[in-house]
Amino acid sequence: MNTFFLTKRLNYLVIVLVSFGFLSCESTYQDEEKQVITQQIESEFYPNENVTDGPYIFVEDSIVIVKWIEQKMLFEVSIFDKDYSIIKDKFGFDLDTTNLFSNKGFAVDYNQCFNDIDNFIAVSDMHGQYNLSLELLKKYGVVDNQNNWSFGSGHLVVNGDIFDRGDKATEILWLVYKLKNQAEASGGKVHYLIGNHELMVLNKDLRYINEKYEVTEKMMAISYDQLFSEQTVIGEWLRTSPIILTINDVLFVHAGISPEFVENKFTQQGVNFMFQNRIIGAEDEVIKNDPLLNFLAGRNGPVWYRGYFRDSTFTEQKLDKILDYFDKERIVVGHTSFDSIVSLFGGKILGIDASIKKGKYGELLIFEKGKLYRGTLNSGKIELK
Ligand code: ZN
Repeated sequence: MNTFFLTKRLNYLVIVLVSFGFLSCESTYQDEEKQVITQQIESEFYPNENVTDGPYIFVEDSIVIVKWIEQKMLFEVSIFDKDYSIIKDKFGFDLDTTNLFSNKGFAVDYNQCFNDIDNFIAVSDMHGQYNLSLELLKKYGVVDNQNNWSFGSGHLVVNGDIFDRGDKATEILWLVYKLKNQAEASGGKVHYLIGNHELMVLNKDLRYINEKYEVTEKMMAISYDQLFSEQTVIGEWLRTSPIILTINDVLFVHAGISPEFVENKFTQQGVNFMFQNRIIGAEDEVIKNDPLLNFLAGRNGPVWYRGYFRDSTFTEQKLDKILDYFDKERIVVGHTSFDSIVSLFGGKILGIDASIKKGKYGELLIFEKGKLYRGTLNSGKIELK
């Protein structure tokens, strides 16, 4: 029998028996196989506005704890018996249980090189703008009308910065999480690169979180970064995300590869390793006191650099050195915002942060049949020359 037990860690006001969406004790008893006990938690903080947020899924020993806020109320379910159907039924995605209790005991691929890929689409800097991002992904066939993966064996690159600014970061995170699993099942892939805002949240710099998440913090009595700790499903996933990825002859990185990066002879594999094992989750002091970590996490590092667009001393010659170093033809970056996708140095640099963060307009980068396109919101595909 599928039973979800009460947790006793917090006081509760009301116990509601929920039979998958129907707030009715009667239907619960009629269908014992689907009995679920959801707790409404007494929160120290009661919000004025109508907040809905979550789920946040925590893994403790062999228990999965799901918390969410619905209509100003905080709910919690503890799952002891590995039946995660409540998550599928209530939130619309399956939990990837492969590494759920591994505590990072699995092999991580730091290399992140993919070749002979026929189709890819890249999006960057969604910054909590779920509706607009979804509209773009639907328009270009990455997801269908039920928000499921419809891009077959294509690759979707999320080039960093899902977090901060907007108020629907949680929705985007779970959408991308779901798509990642669905893509794998149909021979495709979803890559989620770490941007400076992922790094900021994971390293407790919470300056840019939307005020809605301050309500979540207060209601759950937890700081925002701890909602993405190693003990959470999203947090563990983020700690396996790359910084640099290559597909065919294209290098993807959130902000850019600076000339100093190449002078320091960092490698793709080495940097992916360093971020995952030494930078994400590290104390500021530890990073500041190590010159290499300080460089990688700093303004000329891969998640903050803006030189292609803002440094007048940056030249095509410098760029060619970088491309030769990686043996690639072009670099795709987000981070520096424009009104559309921009192409510099004859397409060797593509800046794909088309300001989705403003919630009004955005573009996707599309690669198909050997050609690159701007996928615009209203005017279809425009080839990038
Ligand atoms: Zn950024």
